[in-house]
Amino acid sequence: MKRAVFPGSFDPLTLGHTDIIDRAIPLFDEIIIAIGTNSSKKYMFSLKERSAFIEKTYANEPKVIVDTYQGLTIDYCTKVKSQFILRGLRNPADFEFEKAIAQTNRKMSEIETIFLLTSADTSYISSSIVRDIIVNHGDVSMFVPKAVTV
Ligand code: ADP
Repeated sequence: MKRAVFPGSFDPLTLGHTDIIDRAIPLFDEIIIAIGTNSSKKYMFSLKERSAFIEKTYANEPKVIVDTYQGLTIDYCTKVKSQFILRGLRNPADFEFEKAIAQTNRKMSEIETIFLLTSADTSYISSSIVRDIIVNHGDVSMFVPKAVTV
């Protein structure tokens, strides 16, 4: 069973995230969207809301599972028997950051990080910009899946 963990904050889920998830579905038997919880981080949406956005979006996709975790992503992967971490790459800054994390994780475990390059039409989308638009009462419907706006 090829299982991947897609870790992130998903605050909120965007069309950038769904692009990566949709393209990873044919590559794996199961994808766990793992919402990391960090007590020192402030989130706009509660854990329950963030989970619900993903669950609703993938209600008809049995390969996609939503879970939450605390602590190291590699420890979580070991716990759920996942051999792969899935990450999206948008730009050189993502690459530099992700490279160090992936190499560290590889040093500490056997877990491989699989990167998918963002699609051209969603590469500029980020949860932080979406949050800024929401705070300022703008329309985010072209950047997020339906479940986030209803
Ligand atoms: P984190 O705080 O771990 O970066 P995010 O929810 O911001 O959590 O992102 C989770 C994953 O989704 C990361 O691998 C990130 O690079 C990827 N991602 C976010 N936005 C996009 C996008 N527009 N295109 C491709 N990948 C993206």
